[in-house]
Amino acid sequence: MVSKNQQEFLYVPLGGVGEIGMNMYLYGFGTKHDRKWIMVDAGIAFADDSQPGIESIIADTAFIENELDNLLGIFITHAHEDHQGALDKIWPILDVPIYGTPFSTNLIARKLAETNFADDVEIINVQQGDSISVGPFTVEFIPVTHSIPEANALAITTELGTVVHTGDWKLDSNPVIGRTTDIKRLKQLGDAGVLALIGDSTNVFRSGQSPTEHEVGQNLADAIKGASGCIAITSFASNAARVYSIIKAAEAADKNVVIAGRSLWRIIDIAREEGYFKDLPHLYDQNDFNTLPHNNTVVVVTGTQGEARAALARIAKGEHPAVKLRANDTVIFSSTTIPGNEKSVGYVVNALADSDINIINSQTHKVHVTGHPLREEMMQMYEWLKPETSIPVHGEVMHVREHIKLAKSLGIKNTVKALNGTMVRLAPGKTKVIGEVEHGRIYEDGNLLTPAWDGPVKERRKLSFVGIVAISIVFDRKGKLRAEPEIFSMGLPEYDDDGVSMFDIIADKVDEVIQAMPNGVRKKEKPAREAFRIGVRRQVERIWGKKTIVQIMLSYVD
Ligand SMILES: [Zn+2]
Ligand SMILES: [Zn+2]
Repeated sequence: MVSKNQQEFLYVPLGGVGEIGMNMYLYGFGTKHDRKWIMVDAGIAFADDSQPGIESIIADTAFIENELDNLLGIFITHAHEDHQGALDKIWPILDVPIYGTPFSTNLIARKLAETNFADDVEIINVQQGDSISVGPFTVEFIPVTHSIPEANALAITTELGTVVHTGDWKLDSNPVIGRTTDIKRLKQLGDAGVLALIGDSTNVFRSGQSPTEHEVGQNLADAIKGASGCIAITSFASNAARVYSIIKAAEAADKNVVIAGRSLWRIIDIAREEGYFKDLPHLYDQNDFNTLPHNNTVVVVTGTQGEARAALARIAKGEHPAVKLRANDTVIFSSTTIPGNEKSVGYVVNALADSDINIINSQTHKVHVTGHPLREEMMQMYEWLKPETSIPVHGEVMHVREHIKLAKSLGIKNTVKALNGTMVRLAPGKTKVIGEVEHGRIYEDGNLLTPAWDGPVKERRKLSFVGIVAISIVFDRKGKLRAEPEIFSMGLPEYDDDGVSMFDIIADKVDEVIQAMPNGVRKKEKPAREAFRIGVRRQVERIWGKKTIVQIMLSYVD
């Protein structure tokens, strides 16, 4: 038992355990009635076909919203969307400083610049390898290799000990850009004693040895040299290391390099500003594509997952404004297909095949490597840190379970399965689950963040993406309202940002239209109906950012 006045070191995952994506973790320190918290990562998950109309999914922050005075800051391990993509949506709720290394904070600052609260956000840069103390916590940013520069494991220390939160990491002796995992520092921490390893589980089912990023670059150069026609290569824009490898491979094969898409330019600009990507050849914009010799050009494009709006899908359909491929050209997928995206990728591949375009992917050539540790690498991390407890993160439930089995097989004394919402006491005493906190998912839905209840989304699966509003209005022949208008809606958010119900907004708008409508118009069915329809539709759009279907049932009685 821990007494009321006993200090405790706590851990609460809000997102990222039970799914891959929407990483959000809390660490707490203090007595039951006087606790301070820090947040590690604030990422999004992408919605799939079962959540029509939803842009992204974020962990519910209700628990920490009740502790806002005690939240000291948000620490970002690295700049991938599943670790920082929620900041531009939830920062106004949390309103605390953001800590990160310069590459990550540069990318975050650019994203926040598109919001109306950018000037209010305090961003604090920490160099890789440095520590910063905030309240009772000292947080050290330890360089690890990943697919983006400046990925960090965090060593979080309080009076009661140190835990290591790995973030996304892997081992790569030749990562091309960014630093190698700081094994020496990890070993030092292990020798000094680590309470718990909170670690990446993504590839726990995969064994073997990954090629280095440098080898992938060489394989890409070989593939480019052996391929016919113009070559389009697709990668995640956020996989900065790969974007660099592709450009260098194209240069080695003596090709012109075209960059197609804003997100690719953004990552290249940030990398250059932060001192990476120093030795790139001249890069052409997509608008130059037409002016370059077709068969001597490599185009870097987004759209690895077959996303309909990304460049590759538009090229495949022949709808890209600047880049046109021809028969016998080649597309290289320098990526893997994320489970769930097979259908959309298949659609793009088939469209390319229909135009007689050749496909090269990671199954036919070693043109991709994962950014996460395979089993053998995870085993090494345990050897270096020698943690008392293993707490798996960054995985679905099956990954978490397998990670626990792996840790046990390595002789780790204590393992804790802590899915989203679990409160874990790291210290004092043996690390264990002590409770559960409010948790869940929030949908980014147009301009609104709404609770991820199944109701409205299910309705939208029936009603496509925009929902429906039906309103019944009864006038008499003199244009006098004979009954309270009846409003029925499906698939709309329940409340606006201020907690006003959408029903009330529509009812108020209907009242407003009635008040403003001259008697002469009320008696004419068609213009009267249009006035209600357009008024309600515009009002809903103003609030929601989406055009719903509005049906007006207007009737007249004597
Ligand atoms: Zn990552
Ligand atoms: Zn991740």
